[in-house]
Amino acid sequence: MMATPLVAGNWKMNTSVAEAAKLARDLRTALRGIDGVTLVVCPPFVSLPGVATELAGSNIAVGAQNMHHSPLGAYTGEVSGTMLQGICTYVILGHSERRSHQGETDAMVNLKVRAALVLGLTPIICVGETLEERDAGQANEVVSKQITECLREMTAAHVGNVVLAYEPIWAIGTGRSATPETAQEMLLFIRETVAKLAGGSAANIPLLYGGSVNPGNAVELAAQPDLDGALVGGASLQAEEFTAIATAFSPQA
Ligand code: PEP
Repeated sequence: MMATPLVAGNWKMNTSVAEAAKLARDLRTALRGIDGVTLVVCPPFVSLPGVATELAGSNIAVGAQNMHHSPLGAYTGEVSGTMLQGICTYVILGHSERRSHQGETDAMVNLKVRAALVLGLTPIICVGETLEERDAGQANEVVSKQITECLREMTAAHVGNVVLAYEPIWAIGTGRSATPETAQEMLLFIRETVAKLAGGSAANIPLLYGGSVNPGNAVELAAQPDLDGALVGGASLQAEEFTAIATAFSPQA
């Protein structure tokens, strides 16, 4: 059994509330005929309720870009998973931009992943090495450490409910995507690493690639056996581009 393909859009800190609702409406129409792919959009927090309303009853799920691990409390400016329940079903955790700008560590991501799973939210956990680490031949070591730390002290069943995104930092927002071969090689390694933590098999865990995915490279990426989908940044803000990428991952393509 292979994982169902999954294509998620990370809108990052873009779109006003009105723009987000419009993009959601456009995507609802554009993605209507796409089958066999789990589709997810991740707008900014303030736009989550509006986007969820626009997409109710559609084939597009909604995700957040982060959450706090505590259900409530004195954490000014934070949003908890409990607050996301009923509004969205996915949550991106450990994105490299949060790791570098907000100082998120694997230990913090681990707390968030565990909290999300208990609440029934599916975490999309991001891992990936810097260019320096890749050039030093440390990519596998860095990524396997991130995965092991982020999935620490979790049951095999919980591990089986996560989505993992390999996002090499040098490929994010740079226009320089990993080659399909490089992405495949790492994703196979990730599958083997996760299989041990998931009680033997990770065949059903969607493994995504992220980093400058666009309509021009999506078909070749989608052809790789261990690449079950994509986490898309820049191109997810254009309905046409996101639709072309989603189509590339559709089994009908
Ligand atoms: C991302 O931020 O998750 C991402 C992959 O961005 P981009 O597609 O713009 O490289």
